[in-house]
Amino acid sequence: MPTRRTLLATSLAGGIVPFLDVSVAAAARPDTGVSAYAFPLTAVQLLTSPFTANAGRTQSYLLFLDNDRMLHTFRLNVGLASSATPCGGWESPTTELRGHSTGHLLSALAQAYASTANTAFKTKGDQLVTVLAQCQARAATAGYNTGYLSAFPESFIDRVETRQSVWAPYYTLHKIMAGLLDMYLLAGNAQALTVLTGMAAWVKFRNDRLTLTQRQNMLDTEFGGMNEVLTNLYQVTGDANHLATAQYFDHAEIFDPLAAGVDSLNNYHANTQIPKIIGALREYHATGTTRYRDIAVNFWDIVTGHHTYAIGGNSNGEYFKAPDRIASELSDTTAECCNTYNMLKLTRQLFLTNPARADYMDFYEKALYNHTLASQDPSSTHGFQCYYVPLRAGGIKTYSNDYNSFVCCHGTGMESNTKYGDTIYFHDGGSTLYVNLFIPSVLTWSARGVTIRQDTTFPDAGATKLTVTGAGTFTVKVRVPAWATGAQLKVNGTAQAAPQPGTYATIARTWASGDTVELTLPMALTREPANDNSTVQAVKVGPIVLGGLFGTNNLTALPVLDPATLTATATPLQYTASGVTLQPFYKVHGQRYSVYWSVTATQPLPAFVAYYPFDGAATDATGNGKTATLVNAGYTTGRSGSAVSLNGSNGYVSLPAGILNGASAFSIALWVRIDSLVTWARVFDFGTGTGVNMFLTPRSSGGTARFAITTGGSGGEQRIDAPAALPAGAWTHVAVTRSGNLGILYVNGAEVARNSALTLGPGSLGNTTQNWLGRSQYADPYLTGALDSVRLYSRALSASEVSGFFTSGT
Ligand SMILES: [Zn+2]
Repeated sequence: MPTRRTLLATSLAGGIVPFLDVSVAAAARPDTGVSAYAFPLTAVQLLTSPFTANAGRTQSYLLFLDNDRMLHTFRLNVGLASSATPCGGWESPTTELRGHSTGHLLSALAQAYASTANTAFKTKGDQLVTVLAQCQARAATAGYNTGYLSAFPESFIDRVETRQSVWAPYYTLHKIMAGLLDMYLLAGNAQALTVLTGMAAWVKFRNDRLTLTQRQNMLDTEFGGMNEVLTNLYQVTGDANHLATAQYFDHAEIFDPLAAGVDSLNNYHANTQIPKIIGALREYHATGTTRYRDIAVNFWDIVTGHHTYAIGGNSNGEYFKAPDRIASELSDTTAECCNTYNMLKLTRQLFLTNPARADYMDFYEKALYNHTLASQDPSSTHGFQCYYVPLRAGGIKTYSNDYNSFVCCHGTGMESNTKYGDTIYFHDGGSTLYVNLFIPSVLTWSARGVTIRQDTTFPDAGATKLTVTGAGTFTVKVRVPAWATGAQLKVNGTAQAAPQPGTYATIARTWASGDTVELTLPMALTREPANDNSTVQAVKVGPIVLGGLFGTNNLTALPVLDPATLTATATPLQYTASGVTLQPFYKVHGQRYSVYWSVTATQPLPAFVAYYPFDGAATDATGNGKTATLVNAGYTTGRSGSAVSLNGSNGYVSLPAGILNGASAFSIALWVRIDSLVTWARVFDFGTGTGVNMFLTPRSSGGTARFAITTGGSGGEQRIDAPAALPAGAWTHVAVTRSGNLGILYVNGAEVARNSALTLGPGSLGNTTQNWLGRSQYADPYLTGALDSVRLYSRALSASEVSGFFTSGT
């Protein structure tokens, strides 16, 4: 165990540091039962993204806040003079929770300092600690027991111990204690550890005097993460008194059923429970007692599986409800933001415990983007914060303010928005790096002497690129989300075996400066049904929940959504459906919205969707009425009968909107005569623009025919590349089929290429409106030639059916 001086020097150098969840060679006690370790915030530089925008607003707020106002009630509580203007809201001098925000502020300042190296945050935090130490030193003078530090009198503790009415005194003390620990660990403030140790001794004194029954009864009142912060203090100092005090806060009424895997959360205040469970997991990390781990694992499985909305949040009116009640619990007070702050904290600790479980980080991503990122007001320069995120149809987000709110979620919001670098990367204590989140950033991995730069515009596009600077032999494990069916991986531009969604793709090699890893993550349009009503669904693109925009329209019922009408727009991740615009929920602010929809059943497509013989008319010979439109085009002699003649300058055929909408399997089969072979011309191209489409070109820039389908522009294409270009000057039969994830390209009745990882189908594209023969979504050349006997199916043709068309000439 090093001296505190060397410990702090290490922590500020950005190396392997004594963070609680880091490999803590330098800490008094290493964590037990973990196999992944965090990098310090100092090692991760965030590059421009929605997260840095949020963080910047919160950082402005932290620097704006007046320390004297945040210390006003602390000073008064011990008889020190204060002329500061009292805060309002939950920090008013008469509110029983007063003081909690000052604790959050300490944590936020420490995190902001570690994330940015801006000493203004540390200076401000140091000043707070100095005054808090003064207040603590006056405990006896003020008539309190030694070590007591609070903005309210110690009589509140008498009241909670004797079961008289009081809000949540230990909840508030936990925030102050956690803030002090963060100031010590992240900002190197030694005085903060001294003050914290004094508070911990006071907590022990208060609870040593109680019987087990008295303590357990007291735990019915919300107490934050007292067991967590005291366990963390034990790990940092090695003083077993802190562990014993932590265990005073093991709440049997909650822990016992969870240890048995029983969901008895109904009607319990949600955010009261989550921090207890984080504490349990930390107690496992400190003691190795697996019962603590099982409590945490079971709780996480129960909450994420049976109490969680599509945005990743939980609770209605702050309470857990009966398992799987989701559609029946949509209100203006759903999804308290603190709960997700704490669920993310728990999830991160569970990842450290078992990094092989990829679903931990799938949930983390879901809740991070759709709840945490979604709950800060972008029009406020100070990062005002939601308390609840309403999930009733027609709900609207409302926010905190500078000095007259100070709700719990305002406090956890300060913390959430100052630590976005903490869960992108982890390591295994040796030579393995985990890449968990797709957030643009630069990691300095000092133990290996390398930096890893991640460039991505995710979630606008489903792709990310890692670039290594420095050299060495190590393993990179990149998370392949469960939603990313069809993900593709390249190392230095060379395609690797298709990675399996819901796992980590492993790349072990000797790296050189400039080496790259590219991961393509197809973001399919899907819907997440509510556990209790399969017709109530949220719309998602990849992991991103879309919110429908309803302006000032205060809906009285769930809006109806026909999935067949979902149409992509030119804006990434933005759709329309029945006149309503849908966009990522994290961007929805300042108007009423709906996350959940009443989804109507879509009429299934006929197996044989449309057939255009083009024998002098553009009618659909199936009788389905899918009449085509010729634009600047006429008829010529065909392969059988007549055909459409295309002039190569502005002629094309337009098919009805949404003609293959909803189809998973499909086939397009046709005859084409290419009179002039031009790169990037189109046989067909169905889409809504360059972002969302599927096409067949006679010749790509690679020199061969190509089918491609994408929901993320050219970078997100899934392709079937033929071995050669389509021939020119002769009638050629071509067909593309898809069944399951298998796509096959046929030329003149024979298979020429296939892709068995074709996860996108027409149904992934939504309601395509530009369904063209002979014309591209891009400004590519038009087709010069003729088209005949065009057939569309919502099933895959068999090889013999395709060869039959070729043989018969129809
Ligand atoms: Zn809250």
